Amino acid sequence: MKRPVVVVWTPRAWLVTTAAIGAVVVMLLVLARAAVRVSAPLSDAVCGKVIVIDPGHGGDDCGARGRSGLAEKDVVLDIGRHLAGLFNRVAVYTVMTRDEDEDLAGDGSLGPMQRKRLDLESRVDLGARSGADLYISVHANSFPEPVWSGAQTFYHSKSEESKALAQAIQKELVARLGPNLRKAKPGDDYFVLRKSKMPAVIVEAGFLSNPREESLLAQPDYRRRVAEAIFHGTVNYLVESYKRRRGAEGQRAGAEPVSDLRTEGPPHDGAESVLRSKVRAALNPADDEVILYFAGPTNFDDDLLPEIRKTAGIAEAASPEERASKIVAELLKGPAGGSVLCPTIPKGTRLRALRIADGVAYVDFSRELASSHWGGSRAEEITVYSIVNTLAELPEVERVQILVEGASAVTIAGHVILDEPLEPNFDLVRFAK
Ligand SMILES: [Zn+2]
Repeated sequence: MKRPVVVVWTPRAWLVTTAAIGAVVVMLLVLARAAVRVSAPLSDAVCGKVIVIDPGHGGDDCGARGRSGLAEKDVVLDIGRHLAGLFNRVAVYTVMTRDEDEDLAGDGSLGPMQRKRLDLESRVDLGARSGADLYISVHANSFPEPVWSGAQTFYHSKSEESKALAQAIQKELVARLGPNLRKAKPGDDYFVLRKSKMPAVIVEAGFLSNPREESLLAQPDYRRRVAEAIFHGTVNYLVESYKRRRGAEGQRAGAEPVSDLRTEGPPHDGAESVLRSKVRAALNPADDEVILYFAGPTNFDDDLLPEIRKTAGIAEAASPEERASKIVAELLKGPAGGSVLCPTIPKGTRLRALRIADGVAYVDFSRELASSHWGGSRAEEITVYSIVNTLAELPEVERVQILVEGASAVTIAGHVILDEPLEPNFDLVRFAK
């Protein structure tokens, strides 16, 4: 037979109970202060949404690293966890692609570059299966020189909703973490932005290659503020998107996910060919000169800038392949001595092979292109298009397939998958227009 529970009310028990009630009251007060309040109209736009939070990299893939050793994978996981906590408080469901220090590649027998591809595919699959409304990938940037700084958000240029989300987040990043002149930018080659079917953004929380930002990102309080900026930007976007749909549908805005299929069209628009011919006309290379693309020198132009260079033997090259190989050799050397431009290809990278067929240059680099890369999505994009844009100066080359150690469909730094020949991208080129 069960004995009844007898509560003996002693002065000591009273004290303990009072202390416990006091603690709960204090906790509620603290929570109320910290809580993110959502007013009634906002709740229709925000509550019940499902958001994928994707902290980049993980496990063996550290992503970018700061000078102090701070790893992108750890910074972004912490920001992702904070962000999930903020969303959960306003009844937004979150799906974390990872909540531990691990990647999503599964198969342990694959090489690092193949693992990164599988890892990115798994993240996108998880997003699709979750039926989420939004996809927010969190990364930290890195560049070959320490001058670049500032958090920045990227979107797919063919998705208006992604652009609106990215701009809303960028606005909060600037307002809450500034000074920062960066704007939301297209990042059409980033795998998770290309493949996600819902509005999707990549938030680069700052540059680990910039000592000031590295020390900020090392602080838990700063990472919390990054998460708050992403949270408030996303809420603002959801409210605006809700209002827009409500306006469009009369008073009947539903809770259905925003339909946002990427519109079809060429990967980079026609304005680039105009810029390209302007670059050529202005630089007017002689027969023994080539145009090479390197990274810009200041925090305001993390873009590609052309350098014109006299190259011995280029005019006499016996074949397009020989000419292309000579051009790549110049690119591998980096900017000319005394130039303010920055290299785009890691030291030690070698050209293994190059052939041209049907307008496509297949250019195979040694593993250093990936293994010694400094990381960061923008830096990866700059590396890829410094190669593609430079080679596409040859009349025989329309597109470029980059390979690493003979393998295609790999990734250099874990954001862009080289699964098809790429057309030159002059959106990335900064030039007096
Ligand atoms: Zn990254």
